[in-house]
Amino acid sequence: METLRFQVVGEAFKKKPLDVQAPAERPTKYFGRKVFNREKMYKYLPKEVYATMIDVMDNGARLDRKIADAVAEGMKQWATEERVTHYTHWFQPLTEGTAEKHDSFIEHDGKGGMIEEFTGKLLVQQEPDASSFPSGGIRSTFEARGYSAWDPTSPVFIIDDTLCIPTIFISYSGEALDYKAPLLKALHAVNVAATEVCHYFDPTVKKVTSNLGWEQEYFLVDEGLYAARPDLLLTGRTLMGHDSAKNQQMDDHYFGSIPERVAAFMRELEIVALELGIPCKTRHNEVAPNQFELAPIFEDTNLAVDHNMLLMSLMKRVARKHGFRVLLHEKPFAGINGSGKHNNWSLSTDNGVLLHAPGKTPEQNLRFATFIVETLMGVYRHNGLLKASIMSATNAHRLGANEAPPAIISSFLGKQVSELLDHIEKADKDDLFSINGKQGMKMDIPEIPEIFIDNTDRNRTSPFAFTGNRFEFRAVGSEANCASAMIALNSAVAEALANFKKRVDARIKEIENDFEGSGHNPVMHAVIDVLREDIKTCKPIRFDGNGYSDEWIAEAEKRGLDVEKSCPKIFERYLDPESIEMFESLGVMTRKELEARNEVKWETYTKKVQIEARVLGDLSMNHIIPVATRYQSELVKNVDSVAMVFAPDKAKVLNARNLKLIEEIAERTSAIETGVDELVNARKVANKIVDEHEKAIAYHDQIAPKLDEIRYQIDKLELIVDDSMWPLPKYRELLFIR
Ligand code: ADP
Ligand code: MG
Repeated sequence: METLRFQVVGEAFKKKPLDVQAPAERPTKYFGRKVFNREKMYKYLPKEVYATMIDVMDNGARLDRKIADAVAEGMKQWATEERVTHYTHWFQPLTEGTAEKHDSFIEHDGKGGMIEEFTGKLLVQQEPDASSFPSGGIRSTFEARGYSAWDPTSPVFIIDDTLCIPTIFISYSGEALDYKAPLLKALHAVNVAATEVCHYFDPTVKKVTSNLGWEQEYFLVDEGLYAARPDLLLTGRTLMGHDSAKNQQMDDHYFGSIPERVAAFMRELEIVALELGIPCKTRHNEVAPNQFELAPIFEDTNLAVDHNMLLMSLMKRVARKHGFRVLLHEKPFAGINGSGKHNNWSLSTDNGVLLHAPGKTPEQNLRFATFIVETLMGVYRHNGLLKASIMSATNAHRLGANEAPPAIISSFLGKQVSELLDHIEKADKDDLFSINGKQGMKMDIPEIPEIFIDNTDRNRTSPFAFTGNRFEFRAVGSEANCASAMIALNSAVAEALANFKKRVDARIKEIENDFEGSGHNPVMHAVIDVLREDIKTCKPIRFDGNGYSDEWIAEAEKRGLDVEKSCPKIFERYLDPESIEMFESLGVMTRKELEARNEVKWETYTKKVQIEARVLGDLSMNHIIPVATRYQSELVKNVDSVAMVFAPDKAKVLNARNLKLIEEIAERTSAIETGVDELVNARKVANKIVDEHEKAIAYHDQIAPKLDEIRYQIDKLELIVDDSMWPLPKYRELLFIR
């Protein structure tokens, strides 16, 4: 009897790449074709409406109802020309993906016929009955309504026959039930704080934008093989599977030539993504077999977050068309690299200055140092919170696994920037400032040659590394909504900058009289005074060494950094007094919202481990033990036959190996059975716990470790049971067939 495994392996081998025809025009022509971007606004909106929309998008101007009606009319006209029939508010609830509920444009015309209608009211606000989305208890059941409200800063786009309108999602009483609402507030906070700090250096700056360039890693698996692995199908990762003899040790996959079937998938994905305005730039093989990466050019953080959410859903669709399933889980396979989503982050001004890039003049470099140091101040003060912002049941498998950043947040700056900060901190004050004839005050802030910046010896083990003109937050998980990390990071930096400004202003007051008529600029003196303090304060977060080493854990603990490893406990950092104070004072989230969101986090954690435990229990009892026992019976039969044919002494020798195997199978299957029983009992106990926080901790401490014990036994069985009987596709098949 041919097992399902051999059928799907055979079929996967035969698959040919799809023929993906590139559109007739160049990508620059079809880029953004399905987006109601500025070009389309210009075409479809009356002149004054267009001007108002630009003001709304660029400067956060208010948008009144009349304008909304006119915009809706223009959108409808464009959409119907594109044969769109439906529209939806597209939002990002506290689950992993995005949510949408489609309505058609059709309305009764009151005369027995139908008209197509889409008004400003429908564009601006909807009231989806959203009682099934997680709210952490914010929405009581008698008031199940949630509101979705248009985010005019992220353009509307078309998927198939539907106009998708990016929206925030809030409760009846105004609390955020999504990622976008607090993200927009955090971006506003960092804009305000950073703009004020910029004014020390350039009073003409009007706005500071937070930039995000993500790098999405993922695995592809043939869909037949995927369907034959209930664990992948139901949990997104393999709960068992012995190492393939060959996996990534040869480093032959990284940047290797892209397999044809995968290349066809990538080509199609890029075409649809470009049409939707996602500026895809880079694609390549990653370190692990069947692992790949896609990275667009960086954009404003809000748009980049939307684009990442959109891209993840496009990946799933396009992969299916090509007979693949895309795995976004952070650790689908044990023993080889997992997937992350590096978040390249920086701040820039409306007049085109990258605040995290070194400049040419001493003043520009002082500004650069200011933004580097205040970023570090935010990351240092809230390192535990930043870790919480990237933590999840799935990412926990990746972090600290000797490939990904460790579960301690620290920052790598590289030699050049470290030396610059040391210089500012330690140089004699009189050497830092001098008077230079008519030009007045001169500062000794050395320039960083561009060539050095490009060559920053990149420390791959650092979770928050400076890479020339940005920081790269590498701990973010592949499956995550980047907004979570971006809310925490931008808030932390906004708080640090606001705090910096307060102290610099106070310092200016202190010294300005002393400096009158001296030719010295008291502002720059004050900036340096405060900066010198902060360079000292945030030193514990700076770490240029090997983040994978055991010494680092001990050292980090000594430095007072957060070294907690337990996912449910890491979430507690959201409720630390300094976190609540920060989010509340910046107007990003209230205590009530933070508490509710943590309930959701703990509940989600529990559910994920619970599902894994169930799946592993089923597979153990229904797939693994029966097959192992069948193989064991065959061995027993063979032992009997040998005993019948040969003299007892000889038979004993010949049967030695099989007897050992029979015993090993008996021991391992019995260990699995015991393990599954224990797992069920531990769940029964944990499920009685009412408090979500306590329950999540019980699942982490009591249940998750049992999964590993059971897996260990199964993986050993995989090595000894007859390959032709083994029911589940093996790692060597999942990872090398494409
Ligand atoms: P890597 O060497 O880490 O793969 P890439 O050059 O591929 O780096 O860039 C990774 C991402 O960083 C891209 O999305 C890129 O647009 C983005 N990026 C580059 N400069 C900045 C910046 N100043 N701020 C934010 N993102 C940036
Ligand atoms: Mg990178």
